[in-house]
Amino acid sequence: MNYNSTRNNNTVVSASQAIAQGISEEGGLFVPQSLPRYTMDDIKAMSETDYKGRAKKIFRDFLGDFTEQEIDESVEAAYTAEKFGSENPAPISYIESGSTKMSVLELWHGPTCAFKDMALQILPHLLTKSVKKTYSGKEAVILVATSGDTGKAALEGFKDVDGTKIMVFYPVNGVSPMQKRQMATQKGNNVSVAAIEGNFDDAQTGVKKIFTNTEIKAKLAENNMLFSSANSINWGRLLPQVVYYFSAYCDMLKEGKITLGDKINVVVPTGNFGNILASFYAMNMGLPINKFICASNANNVLTDFIRTGTYDKQRTFFTTISPSMDILVSSNLERLLYHLTDGNAEKVAQWMKELSETGKYTVDEEVKAKLQKLFYGGFCDDENTQKTIREMYREENYLCDTHTAVAVNVYQQYVADTNDTTPAVIASTASPYKFAKSVLEAVSDAALPEDEFAMVDALSAATKTPVPAPLASLKDAEVRFGFTCKVDEMPQTVLNSLSIG
Ligand SMILES: *Cc1c(COP(=O)(O)O)cnc(C)c1O
Repeated sequence: MNYNSTRNNNTVVSASQAIAQGISEEGGLFVPQSLPRYTMDDIKAMSETDYKGRAKKIFRDFLGDFTEQEIDESVEAAYTAEKFGSENPAPISYIESGSTKMSVLELWHGPTCAFKDMALQILPHLLTKSVKKTYSGKEAVILVATSGDTGKAALEGFKDVDGTKIMVFYPVNGVSPMQKRQMATQKGNNVSVAAIEGNFDDAQTGVKKIFTNTEIKAKLAENNMLFSSANSINWGRLLPQVVYYFSAYCDMLKEGKITLGDKINVVVPTGNFGNILASFYAMNMGLPINKFICASNANNVLTDFIRTGTYDKQRTFFTTISPSMDILVSSNLERLLYHLTDGNAEKVAQWMKELSETGKYTVDEEVKAKLQKLFYGGFCDDENTQKTIREMYREENYLCDTHTAVAVNVYQQYVADTNDTTPAVIASTASPYKFAKSVLEAVSDAALPEDEFAMVDALSAATKTPVPAPLASLKDAEVRFGFTCKVDEMPQTVLNSLSIG
């Protein structure tokens, strides 16, 4: 199977090239030329294997120039019980209140307690194998812009992986104290971390500019290095996310929550549009999905887009208690547009040009109609996010984080709007302990302790739930990175960290 660029159908690359390169030359994203199609019998067979078995099947169908052994090695190394706490890295908690049935798909049992681990534990394996195939002997330099969770998950995935170096940029005031500490204390000999004076979009734009900066690229080439991306625009990030939607369906099947062929709804707290897009691919591969419910926080650019067909990034940027969704330019949406236009790369390139030049674009009626048939968009502000956490805890005895609460709230709006009670899979994207302050504030009326770690302990005491081990150990970890730079200093910061500058 080969891949095209969303902005140029004449670009044709192999799976390993798509993963090694991250982004296409002209700025487009790589998309598969066709999709495997699974029958109900295939899905039934998948339900009889474990998560790793399901992952191997899907990877084999997408990674045309990988050997079966390379895929098996990658999967076996990534989804271990040691890293994810059990044999099933993505277990479901069922909440059945009244007529609404929520299957909360917990994607945060990995080493950094957020769903990014699902992809970033396997990406380094796929990437080093891809680089070996396409650019044998070169060292891959991974640049990451993060709104919090990607950065830590990428650092953790790539640390001390031979043939790679990783550099992470985060917005200085745009991540939680816990996220900041997770990154500042990162271990490993090939890692570096810097804060930037700006928001996530500034960081992301800065990284994209470095990727396409010919001078810097030449400098890397002289030193036998090349840039690659671990951001959710990399196909190697998206593909692993397709797996857990199939896996959730299989588990629900096995646990008697649905019968084979039943439709489900999927609810995703959305930022860069990667997670929800993975479920869209799953549907196009045969998974019976009825509706995609796209949940945003106060940065509701996607809600407006789904409701009006106009994407307009010119709006106030809000820093919210669900910071991993504080995004105004959802990069992966470009892939959806490509598929909804049946692969019209010229049109997609035109819209992306308008977005970067004027700050907005409007899709045509046909695309808008398709979009609205499949997607429901809604949003939830901070106050309602905390209200939802409190209600989920008090009424359902389920403790969820701020991002998951946004999804639950928007799902409740959806059910109220439509009366559609199709069983819903809610993507739960972070451990509540990763956002302890906001969660504690929501569930407890006691005065908040001062520091983040005291809040973690207080949350554990108040709810009698355990603190995840990777967060508990941060308290005493040594701080290694405390550097802040301006956006226009990012290129030099990269060169310095590679000592080629
Ligand atoms: C990254 C992230 C999201 C958003 O996911 P996208 O794939 O970017 O839409 C939501 N919640 C958490 C906790 C995240 O880390």
